[in-house]
Amino acid sequence: MSDPADVRRALASWVGYLGDIGVRELDLRAAEPEPRVVPVAGLAAIRETIGDCRRCKLCEARTNIVFGVGDPHARLMFVGEGPGADEDARGEPFVGRAGQKLNEMIRSIGLQREQVYIANVVKCRPPGNRDPEPDEVATCSPFLFAQIEAIAPEVIVTLGSPATKTLLGTRAGITALRGKWGSFRGIPVMPTFHPAYLLRAYTVENRKLVFEDLKAARARLDEPR
Ligand code: URA
Repeated sequence: MSDPADVRRALASWVGYLGDIGVRELDLRAAEPEPRVVPVAGLAAIRETIGDCRRCKLCEARTNIVFGVGDPHARLMFVGEGPGADEDARGEPFVGRAGQKLNEMIRSIGLQREQVYIANVVKCRPPGNRDPEPDEVATCSPFLFAQIEAIAPEVIVTLGSPATKTLLGTRAGITALRGKWGSFRGIPVMPTFHPAYLLRAYTVENRKLVFEDLKAARARLDEPR
């Protein structure tokens, strides 16, 4: 399917379908090895499909839809949970204090923010920075999945529990999952702590653990292809 209009129609119908079916089936879908239900659509087509989204209740208080930022051909992709106040105001992910910490994390493995791609599970700010709710994740995550398909990164780093659970289709918490490779549709996924958690719990131990996770991601990228 190469006609962009066909791609948009297929994406729109899949998103509508997922919005209807709820989380249990979405979890199973996320855990499938290679479902590839959504055809690869360019990032611009995905953004156009999102439009001025009113598909879930997060639209009510948002200022901006926060789509994603970075190199559309990035080999490394970071996935967070959802925009905070700064991101909602600017329309760009990870631009507040957690964003500064994420930038440090990216630099710690010899990369710049512009060289990776950064997106969230939900594109609108959950009120009060709460975790996104299951219906919101079910409605919005297909757009993240489509972004991943379009970018086709070689490695994904998930930041914190909601992102990790969404991509790995698991209920386990981040403490149990961090540092252990998972997989999303054949792409290796390294879960690590969210930079906002690091800001709250800035211990030598936590910094060491995150650095280990990031180094593992970097080493995977450096493996001969
Ligand atoms: N936290 C997230 O998970 N994403 C952002 O974009 C900002 C903070």
